[in-house]
Amino acid sequence: MSNFNVAKFGGTSVANFEAMSRCAAIIESNPNTKLVVSSACSGVTNLLVELANGVQDQEHRSEILKQLAEIHDSILNQLNDPTQTASDVYSILDTVTSLAEAASIQASNKLTDHLVACGELMSTFILTQLMKERGINAVRFDIRDVLRTDNNFGKGEPEVETIAQLAQQSLVPLCHDYVVVTQGFIGSDEEGNTTTLGRGGSDYSAALIAEAVKAAGLEIWTDVPGIYTTDPRIAAKASPIPEISFSEASEMANFGAKILHPSTLVPALRHDIPVFVGSSKEPEKGGTWIRHKVESSPLFRALALRCNQTMVTLRSAKMFHAYGFLAKVFEILAKHKVSVDLITTSEISVSLTLDQTDTSGGAPQLPEAARLELEELCTVEVEHNLCLVALIGNNMSESKGYAKQVFGTLEDFNLRMICYGASPHNLCFLVHESVSKLAIQKLHTELFEG
Ligand code: ADP
Ligand code: ASP
Ligand code: MG
Repeated sequence: MSNFNVAKFGGTSVANFEAMSRCAAIIESNPNTKLVVSSACSGVTNLLVELANGVQDQEHRSEILKQLAEIHDSILNQLNDPTQTASDVYSILDTVTSLAEAASIQASNKLTDHLVACGELMSTFILTQLMKERGINAVRFDIRDVLRTDNNFGKGEPEVETIAQLAQQSLVPLCHDYVVVTQGFIGSDEEGNTTTLGRGGSDYSAALIAEAVKAAGLEIWTDVPGIYTTDPRIAAKASPIPEISFSEASEMANFGAKILHPSTLVPALRHDIPVFVGSSKEPEKGGTWIRHKVESSPLFRALALRCNQTMVTLRSAKMFHAYGFLAKVFEILAKHKVSVDLITTSEISVSLTLDQTDTSGGAPQLPEAARLELEELCTVEVEHNLCLVALIGNNMSESKGYAKQVFGTLEDFNLRMICYGASPHNLCFLVHESVSKLAIQKLHTELFEG
């Protein structure tokens, strides 16, 4: 194992010149940081996704392009020597302009990935130049030369062994001489097409890269000083967690805690790489260490919220005491590549939620063809605007009485699809979006602020 450290900076951490300068100071403070993974500047990916979904109105398209130029210009203008970097950034903006026009005629997942990747391609040009101007021996590296995925555009599946091989060939040698700055979120397939890992994917990229170069540590620098007992934007009294296990943090990420992309900890866990999460704005505040072994395993660790849930309810009297019904349902779903997240059943109905979406955003949809086939078996009801609330903890299935506390706190709420007891680490349910934050606040007060 090398002794080097991979540091990832999220969108708000590279939002402007001052923010990027703080990143550079963090990089300078640790001589072992040899690899820097950066997101696009804050807000850029959202604008690119809008373009990729196809903006017909030319004026509106120009307005978005102007906003993109302004975000980058404001940083370029503060560099000492912006000429080459500005020309690199502007050539990417030209690409964005033509791809946005193409998307307004016909959008596709492949085109979307090409387009949304431009955010990270631009931010890394700027961050590298800023670091050089501070005297850091920085070099920009195009991660598409290493981060191989399949061609599932919008949610590429990384090919871990190939990534490791390519990293050892071209990335590791570079890290001996330079501080390498590269892109999160993006990769490429075997044919060289640009792919992405899904929204928020830079965390996952950083972990994959850390695994591939056998890094000793991974730092995720964001806009909050660590992982909290719940999203501090929802519950003002949420408190930071100094140390958390991989399984607890994975559970949080899987259940929607935006602080980490759901797959982030998979590579880190495979190679037992300790992960640190901290704030690039306030590095002095410390943060959260995610480790294999931790001192405490409290019954309640955290609350997570994942919105944009799509619930599908299938009902049929034929299901009662019949066999093979669910097999048929899953056969249809598999045929249409519909991935299921949660599931609950009763005698005559089964409810399931659809897995989260890819880079193009929005709530996952049940494809029309799948719906039609399912309707030959049963009635199909699709509901949107739901959020999944998850309580994450330890040894929950062996503990008595806590469900009463949870459901008692939420007695006025309409809870759907309660999943309880299947996992020792969590209890979760759906609520309507309009009351989801209130549900988190009430639970947080009851379970974490006592
Ligand atoms: P970045 O751009 O750095 O990747 P994100 O916006 O993706 O940052 O993630 C950081 C945000 O995650 C925080 O601002 C916070 O609102 C949210 N968040 C959700 N759950 C938690 C949690 N349990 N602890 C801390 N932050 C959380
Ligand atoms: N820029 C990408 C996004 O906004 C990836 C990331 O920031 O993690 O989703
Ligand atoms: Mg993020």
